[in-house]
Amino acid sequence: MNAAASHTAALLDSTHGKPKLLVVDDQPVHLQLLMHTLSADYQVYMATSGEQALALCRSDPPDLVLLDVLMPGMDGFTVCKALKADPQTAALPIIFVTARSDPGQETHGLSLGAVDFIAKPINPAVVKARVHTQLTLKFQADMLKKLVLLDGLSGVFNRRYFDQQLASEWARSTRSGRSLSLILVDVDHFEAYNTRYGHQAGDDCLRTIALALKEVLRRPADVVARFAGEEFACLLPDTSPAHARKLANHMEQRVRELVGLKPDQSAGRQVTISLGLVTRLQAAPVTWEAFLQAASEQLQHAKKAGTGQIRALQLDGATQPAT
Ligand SMILES: [Mg+2]
Repeated sequence: MNAAASHTAALLDSTHGKPKLLVVDDQPVHLQLLMHTLSADYQVYMATSGEQALALCRSDPPDLVLLDVLMPGMDGFTVCKALKADPQTAALPIIFVTARSDPGQETHGLSLGAVDFIAKPINPAVVKARVHTQLTLKFQADMLKKLVLLDGLSGVFNRRYFDQQLASEWARSTRSGRSLSLILVDVDHFEAYNTRYGHQAGDDCLRTIALALKEVLRRPADVVARFAGEEFACLLPDTSPAHARKLANHMEQRVRELVGLKPDQSAGRQVTISLGLVTRLQAAPVTWEAFLQAASEQLQHAKKAGTGQIRALQLDGATQPAT
């Protein structure tokens, strides 16, 4: 498996083991039966009321919900409507499980966005088969959503995902006043490398650099993306200038270690990267376009200074708004 494919596989393995099911029913005997049917293949969580089910879906979203229709207080249809109305939980697949299995009920449940309807008393083999089908569909949909956000060559995120994340992290740092750092990375003399060793070697080089950047940035909120040709962007929420500088140094070293020398390369012609770094402090009153531009300028300064250089800038509360 190449680096891009293995990275994709790692990204898609989002379940970390058995898929999670939430089983909701007001009657313990029904919960026990579903638990008994499903617990060998899945992590099964239980809720005994609609309110409890909603709270669990919001705090620790399962991969699928098996939802009783008739419950005292908030019934299953109401829970389904609430889940579908909340963007955070709207995509959760819901299977209704009910004793009242007349066609009108079933149509109503499906019209609310449920994916299936199972009649009580349940047949364990049917429940297992239908749960399996719906989870397969769910994981396929998740995989497609992720694939459209990945760069096919390097296996890191693509520019589209980076733009989305920059917009949302920018808004977050404006609200919270917490720092936001951005590192732009460019491969030194990449055109010459491609010309000399061919595009296949150039592609391998980009994949190795993407891997090095991913290795250095380990927090889930950090984003590594292919920004343009041989340029990568690393978005680091809640990261101080000093820490971002440390990470940039580490990236520069790691690329030197990982990108192997070609037989005719002397040590002085090692593949290196240049890095331009900018940190927004205290919700500095600039636009995200100006933030991006500042990182790009720092990168240009680094490249002018030679190879394997890092240049950095801080935008603080005293920074003048961009006009
Ligand atoms: Mg019930």
